Amino acid sequence: MTPTIAKIIWLASGLIWFVLRFQPRRYSRQTPVRYSGRGLREFVLLAASLTGLGIVPCIYLATHFPRFADYPLIPALIYLGIVVEAGCLWLFYRSHRDLGHNWSVSLDLRERHTLVTTGVYALVRHPMYAGFWLMALGQALLLPNWVAGPAGLVGFGILFFGRVAREEAMMLSAFGDEYKTYMRRTARVVPWVY
Ligand code: SAH
Repeated sequence: MTPTIAKIIWLASGLIWFVLRFQPRRYSRQTPVRYSGRGLREFVLLAASLTGLGIVPCIYLATHFPRFADYPLIPALIYLGIVVEAGCLWLFYRSHRDLGHNWSVSLDLRERHTLVTTGVYALVRHPMYAGFWLMALGQALLLPNWVAGPAGLVGFGILFFGRVAREEAMMLSAFGDEYKTYMRRTARVVPWVY
């Protein structure tokens, strides 16, 4: 195991994730939006996440900046990172399948939006965000650099904590008691815990 192989694994899982999003992106352009919570705040949150999960690690891969923050590769962490990335991709695939035409990259309610509570949505209310947490954790494990590795946890953490309560308030206003009941029986991102 070498740092180059670990970087290639990180890049490959990013590319698979990108491909998994092709179809949902196309569907989302075809499904009209009836309410949108987009705005400057959402733009900043998405930019923070993109910076931590994409821009900072890509700069590291392309230029090896910041080299001073490198640490020696620990093979056990890389193997764990591969398992985490595989779990992340599975969760993305499943949650897109279950969420179907209700998916948006931001806070939107679509025409004929339905509340999904089955499949991976029966395990947690935010399986896609759980997938992003796994992606960020995988990055921290796979990139042996104290800046590029944890950047995803920081970037996605900003998006998650800046968005999740607003998203749930939006779902509550759209689905009322149905969502309240769902909240009572289903945890946010870690089954039965949080
Ligand atoms: N937070 C969810 C979905 C992310 S996509 C997850 O992590 O899996 C964001 C969009 O999904 C939001 O704009 C919201 O309209 C929609 N959404 C979130 N939870 C949903 C649910 N249980 N059923 C249907 N749509 C949902």
